[in-house]
Amino acid sequence: MNLLSNRAKSLKPSPTLAINAKAKSMQAQGIHVISFGAGEPDFDTPDNIKRAAKKAIDDGFTKYTPVGGIDELKDAIINKFKKDSQLTYKRSEILVSCGGKHSFYNLAQAIFDQGDEVIIPAPYWVSYPPMVALAGGTPVIVATTEKNEFKITPEDLRKAMTPKTKALVMNSPSNPTGSAYTKKDLEKIAEVVVSKNCFVISDEIYEKIVYDGFQFVSIASLSEEMKKKTIIVHGVAKTYAMTGWRIGYTAGSEEIVSAMNNIQSQSTSNPTSIAQKASAEALAGPQSEVEKMVLAFGQRRNYIVDRLNKIPGVSCYKPAGAFYVFPNFSSYYGKSYRGKKIENSTHLADFFLDVARVAVVPGVEFGADPFERLSYATAMEDIREGLNRIEEALKELS
Ligand code: PLP
Repeated sequence: MNLLSNRAKSLKPSPTLAINAKAKSMQAQGIHVISFGAGEPDFDTPDNIKRAAKKAIDDGFTKYTPVGGIDELKDAIINKFKKDSQLTYKRSEILVSCGGKHSFYNLAQAIFDQGDEVIIPAPYWVSYPPMVALAGGTPVIVATTEKNEFKITPEDLRKAMTPKTKALVMNSPSNPTGSAYTKKDLEKIAEVVVSKNCFVISDEIYEKIVYDGFQFVSIASLSEEMKKKTIIVHGVAKTYAMTGWRIGYTAGSEEIVSAMNNIQSQSTSNPTSIAQKASAEALAGPQSEVEKMVLAFGQRRNYIVDRLNKIPGVSCYKPAGAFYVFPNFSSYYGKSYRGKKIENSTHLADFFLDVARVAVVPGVEFGADPFERLSYATAMEDIREGLNRIEEALKELS
C-alpha cells in the first residue's frame, strides 16, 4: 500500500516559499542575504487595521462566524466593487476565504471537472497550474512575449480554445511580470471569451498597486454578459500589507459562490473572525497608507528597472503594476562560473544566491525560463545593494 496519494506525490512545494526559506536559513547562519524573493509588502499593516483587530478580540468577537464571511465584511467588499469597478453584487454573490489563494482553490474545486481545459497565460502565478490540476482540470499554458508586454493576444487565445475550454485565467496586474491589461486590451479578450462561451477567472489582487496613473479595469465591468462570465478573485494581502492575516474574497454568480461556500464549509469553515473585522476596516477605512506604499513601490520600480536595463545583456520590461520585475537574463545562459555552466533560470538563481548572496525566483517556475523574478517589496538600500551584487556577480561569468 502506498503511503501517499498520487495527488500528493504529484505536487511540489510552492517554489517562491522554498526560495524564501533557503534565504532565511542562510540569514539565520549569519550570512547577509538580500532577498528579492518575497511576494509580500515590506511595510507593516496600517494601525487603523490593527486597532480593529484588537477591538475584535477585546469585544469577544472570537467565535465561529458564518462560513462565507460576516455581513460587515461582505458589505465592505460590495462597496469596494461598486466604487472601484461600478460592479453591483449581492451578499450571496460574495465569499470570504482564507486568502486569495484559498479563494482560487475553492473556485477551482467548484467549477472544474476531469478533462476541463483551463487557459493560463505564461508567465503565470506559480499556484494556478497546480490548483487547476488538483481539481482535475487540465492547465493549457499559452506563452506571451516580452515584446507584447507579457499579455495574451486575442489570436493566441482563440487558437488555444477548444470545445473543452472551461475558463481563462487573467491576472492583471500580474505576478510575476507586473504587466497590466488596459481597457482596450480587455475588450479584445472579452470578444473572444463571449464568442467561445467560457468563464474568466479574474485575479485582481494587485488592482491597487499601479503606477503613473494607470487605470485599472476589471474585465467583469465591460458588459452584463462579461459580469456573468467572470469570477473575481481578490484579497487584502497585497494592498494593505496583510499577508499574514489570510483574507481573500470571491465575487461571482450565486450558483458558483454557493458551491464554493459548501466546499469551504467542509474544509476550513469561516476565515478567522478577528482578521475579518480587520479586513472590513481595511476596505472601508482610510486609504492614505495604501497611497504611501504605492508611492514608495513606484519609486523603487523606476530605480530597479533603470538599473537592470543598464546591466549589459539584461533587458527589463517596465511594468504598470504589482511589485515585481521580470528581467531577461538569458544572454548569460551558456556562460560558466568556476567551470560550472549556467544553462537556465534555476542555475542562475542558485548562482545569485551562492555567489552574490541575493535571492531571486527562477522564471521557469512561472513558465518562462529566460527570466528571473525580482520583488521590489524591500527597502531601497537593499535594492541598491542587491543590484550592485548582481552586477558584480555577472562579471564573474565567462
Ligand atoms: N494571486 C496572486 C497573483 C498572487 O501573487 C498571490 C500571492 O502571492 C495570491 C493570489 C494569493 O494571495 P493571498 O493568498 O496571500 O491572499
